[in-house]
Amino acid sequence: MTTSIADLPAGVAPANVPLIAHKFGGSSLADASRIKRVAQILRDRHGERQVVVVSAMSGVTDTLIKLAGLAARRDPAWSGACLDLERKHLEACRLLLDGHQATTVQRLENEFAHLRDLLHALSLLGSPSPEAMAYVQGLGEVFCATLLAAYFNELGDATDFLDAREVLVVRHEELGAVVEWDDSAARLREWSARHSAPRVIITGFIARDLEGRATTLGRNGSDYSGAIFGALFDAAEVHIWTDVDGVLSADPRLVPEAVLVPELTYAEACELAYFGAKVIHPQTMQPAIARGIPLRIRNTFKPEHAGSLIAANAATTPPVKGITAIGELCMVSVEGAGMIGVPGTAERVFAALHRAGISVVMISQGSSEHSICCVVENQHAQRAVQVLGDAFARELSRGQIQRVTAEPGVSVLAVVGEGMAGTPGIAARLFDSLARASINVRAIAQGASERNISVAIASRQAARALRAVHAGFYLSAQTISIGVVGPGQVGRALLAQIDAVSERLLRDANLDLRVRAISDSKHLLLAEGAIALGDWKAALDATSEAADLGRLAEHVDAEHLPHAVIVDCSASSAVADRYPEWLARGIHVITPNKQAGAGPMLRYRAIRAAATAHDARFRYEATVGAGLPIVTTLRDLLDTGDEVLAVEGILSGTLAWLFNRFDGRQPFSVLVEQARAAGYTEPDPRDDLSGTDVARKLVILGREMGLPLELSDVKVESLVPEELSQDTREQFLRHLSLMDPPMLLRHASARARGHVLRYVARLDHLGAATVGLVELPADHAFAHIRLTDNIVQFTTRRYRDNPLVVQGPGAGPEVTAAGVFADLLRVAQSLGARV
Ligand code: ADP
Ligand code: ASP
Ligand code: MG
Repeated sequence: MTTSIADLPAGVAPANVPLIAHKFGGSSLADASRIKRVAQILRDRHGERQVVVVSAMSGVTDTLIKLAGLAARRDPAWSGACLDLERKHLEACRLLLDGHQATTVQRLENEFAHLRDLLHALSLLGSPSPEAMAYVQGLGEVFCATLLAAYFNELGDATDFLDAREVLVVRHEELGAVVEWDDSAARLREWSARHSAPRVIITGFIARDLEGRATTLGRNGSDYSGAIFGALFDAAEVHIWTDVDGVLSADPRLVPEAVLVPELTYAEACELAYFGAKVIHPQTMQPAIARGIPLRIRNTFKPEHAGSLIAANAATTPPVKGITAIGELCMVSVEGAGMIGVPGTAERVFAALHRAGISVVMISQGSSEHSICCVVENQHAQRAVQVLGDAFARELSRGQIQRVTAEPGVSVLAVVGEGMAGTPGIAARLFDSLARASINVRAIAQGASERNISVAIASRQAARALRAVHAGFYLSAQTISIGVVGPGQVGRALLAQIDAVSERLLRDANLDLRVRAISDSKHLLLAEGAIALGDWKAALDATSEAADLGRLAEHVDAEHLPHAVIVDCSASSAVADRYPEWLARGIHVITPNKQAGAGPMLRYRAIRAAATAHDARFRYEATVGAGLPIVTTLRDLLDTGDEVLAVEGILSGTLAWLFNRFDGRQPFSVLVEQARAAGYTEPDPRDDLSGTDVARKLVILGREMGLPLELSDVKVESLVPEELSQDTREQFLRHLSLMDPPMLLRHASARARGHVLRYVARLDHLGAATVGLVELPADHAFAHIRLTDNIVQFTTRRYRDNPLVVQGPGAGPEVTAAGVFADLLRVAQSLGARV
């Protein structure tokens, strides 16, 4: 019987010189210049003996598999492809070697001649034998190790070459290749007696089987080779060199924000590898654990970087080390009321699949016991359904089990970390992050060790889920994909504000605001990452893409980004028409546009219903009082159970300014001119003077209180003389002084009573709504506002005698944009950002 690897005699390295095993992956050896780089890394490490395990040059194993397939299908294309592969290696050889080139070229040519003979034989037979396939697959490592060893010899470094097929003996079991340690150690001793160089280049991935035939350790198996030879040579450490800084918190191709995990326990690394972290092969850990050899994952392209340490006593903080996903799975469910209370059903499911040689990635039983589902590889879907159908044939015929089904397109996302066991709230955070990103969880499993929580989800949502969960555990920032429609004055100010603070938000609040789309009425500017906000205007004007709100929504709501927000800074009703559709997609909508809040009730209800049904936020604080917290205050009053009896206020900055200044000494029309010149009015001052804008704000507040208010329900007193209402803007501006006599009259009569004039909006809890010019006592709160201040007074059950007042600047692009931005941050906060 094979003894345990831990019982082997201390290896062949003299005790005083440490021996380090290095494994280089295919990407580190992709061409001659990279091979030179690898040699340099090894030569720079003085004072150690080296065991160097190499993969094939990147892509070569895939090519070899393809070649064997072509030959076995009698496709003559194998021949040309084989020549290309040979040329690639000979080219690398030529670039690497001068003096020893002839011998190495000869050696490579012999190997390729042999390969061609074999492929030729395969093409005659017309079917690949597993032995031939295994042999062909592993040749890339032979080619690559030959090149590296020859290069060292060329440099004059004493280096031996070890073909793992001579030494490493494995047998194949269900979970992969298992090493015959005794046999392998004996063969290595024999080999070592004949070789003594301080550096040994070894072929990764390949081995011999019990019959002495060439075999492999399975795809990506060179990491495993590295650890096996580390153990056989009694290495002090195994360094696995690849093309990333180390083990990252998620696959960087799916989560570009993934961060380095400095330390992992063997168990954590194994779990991450098993659940798809390709950076290390899951079996690698086993020889390392048995001998307690620390593993380091390092970057060939940054040799100075410390990388990740995988060891028995590695730190177990933070509690979540990484998040992985495996795809191409399918969910097999066994459903039926007859399973309720029947013990052992799950075991029978497992046993049936096990007998069929189908490995189960995950199994989960709903608490109702009404269904059991397990996740298996897609390729086994049909067979799984068949064997489960057989295993439960009796129950199916009696109707105790209704059906056995398989559903493809499933991925399993796993959250891994040893420290999760002692940390409450991890599962809650996981599900919360998924729910906020609108990801439906199909099944859940938590290992008894609590080192791993896995959930089955739809594959098409896998990248989005990974990012959402990654950010949910603060491993990366919460990313919000933003689209801005109608960048007028407010939109422009908003973009500048986002630009000014986005770096700080990323650093301090873990929030990554990415404006990925901007559209005015003509153009649509899109960016995959984020639009550079410094010069968005030029880019928008220069783009040839025509404005298209559908395309904007599609782009902002990218499948791979967890959260999407559209900010509508237009004043357009047509844009508001799109809100229900956006909200129904889960896109949050934020706007200073009053069209939705004060427009037709039918559309308003559709917007609200879509937001509720799809858990999307609709925020519009800046529609009333710009940046002042008016809607929020009203919401808080209502949410905390207060009863609002009346709302009164001055809701127009323009009208506030006019009546603050109007003391009868200057004609009213002169003040209007001044306000227009200062940019306090709309281009056509009638838009302010008519009171409609104020009425819209009142409708928004009324609807917030639950009143079914329409704009037509508001009694509005317009300040525009009847005879000027139909004029063009120019005519109106020319005849402005027609407003003066009546205005002067009103002012004089108010003053006679010691009163002032104010343009006030009023609403009571029954829905009576008025907007117009009123006289107020000089000591009234509304009489003491400044400049363009807005003021709102809430009279409620709690604030009855002394109403709650919100007051401050209520107009201007800067403060309005700040109100929109505050909404954006509140939405981000509700999605999990630490704002
Ligand atoms: P090698 O050729 O060196 O064996 P691999 O391509 O097999 O390299 O593995 C390294 C790659 O694994 C990285 O380039 C990265 O894209 C991918 N990867 C997937 N998940 C992770 C992860 N959690 N951490 C680091 N890399 C990962
Ligand atoms: N060359 C082999 C493969 O591509 C082994 C490895 O690179 O780890 O699977
Ligand atoms: Mg690899």
